[in-house]
Amino acid sequence: MPTYRELLALVKAEIDELGAADARARHGSALFVDVREREEWEEGIVPGAVHVPRGQLESRIEGLVPDHTTEIVAYCSGGSRSAFAAKALQELGYENVVSLTGGFTDWKRNGYPVETPRSLTPDQRRRYSRHLLIPEVGEAGQERLLASRVLLIGAGGLGSPASLYLAAAGVGTIGIIDADVVDDSNLQRQIVHATDRLGEPKVLSAKRTIEALNPDVQVKTYEERLTSENVERILGHGWDVIVDGADNFPTRYLVNDASVWHEIPVVHGSIYRFEGQVTVFNPGSGPCYRCLFPTPPPPELAPSCAEGGVLGVLPGIIGSLQANEALKLVLGIGDTLQGRLLLLDALETTIDEVSVQRDPGCPVCGDHPTITEYVDYVEFCQGVQP
Ligand SMILES: [Zn+2]
Repeated sequence: MPTYRELLALVKAEIDELGAADARARHGSALFVDVREREEWEEGIVPGAVHVPRGQLESRIEGLVPDHTTEIVAYCSGGSRSAFAAKALQELGYENVVSLTGGFTDWKRNGYPVETPRSLTPDQRRRYSRHLLIPEVGEAGQERLLASRVLLIGAGGLGSPASLYLAAAGVGTIGIIDADVVDDSNLQRQIVHATDRLGEPKVLSAKRTIEALNPDVQVKTYEERLTSENVERILGHGWDVIVDGADNFPTRYLVNDASVWHEIPVVHGSIYRFEGQVTVFNPGSGPCYRCLFPTPPPPELAPSCAEGGVLGVLPGIIGSLQANEALKLVLGIGDTLQGRLLLLDALETTIDEVSVQRDPGCPVCGDHPTITEYVDYVEFCQGVQP
């Protein structure tokens, strides 16, 4: 049986090592993998490094670094644990792995850049533990969610489940626009509200529910109807994603035009009886709402908002799909519904998908836009949330 020192020497003979100066030269191109323990990581890291404690390296690295040709610089505090880590990575098939001799200690001693990672509190680590277990989210993703800002248009049928799941997921700032008060006919589907809130403004009722669910979330309320007068002010507060749960044309077109001009992705949802639709409008890369519907239908052909019946669970499904898209957009993971319109039939339980494309002739996002100012389509029913 070799001693630890002999074993380390054996391992070091089988891997490539790099001094601090050479590693510094690769900083920016290579991926730095920090294999130290959490307490060490929290004290300071090589900027941009990913954290995989040595004990979790084999189980987690492929989720974080799927490409086995990635150039990896493994480091620990002094260069021993990272030597074993480099050996393990080689055995997993990683082709370009080096270990930083002298480790983080030597890196720091040379005066190379160091940063202190933001980190989750112990409470947050427990609350979001199921996210931390997913490599695609992990601690960095959770911090991204906590720093993110999502604006919800409407605290109604779609906004209810969307706001609850976004809040539970730890989206740090949630804005809600809604001018209505809670009515007893809302409660069949608008699950963010409750019977003891009848008559209360929906934004305040939603805020209470969200704050009770997750104290990490800041709720910004806008107790007003979105109009051409206030849309610039509200969007000017800076949002990463808009979740559109409005059921009326004036709001939908305003949200669309504003999102194109502000370059904010919109997760669009709509529902009617047993049918729901979801898609993502991502200005700059995908179609916008006006690429599909350049102008609203004449008012006499538009379905009446107040009388539109809907199975109560349908907005729950569609709003949850919207939350899913919003979370992926914030995290930058997966494939979104950009360019795809998802059609759900809840009566037959079928899901169809149609491809939708950006229209170069679109009046707003096209090559030669003809609409360059907000339009208020006042003749439509006003702002009843589904
Ligand atoms: Zn367009």
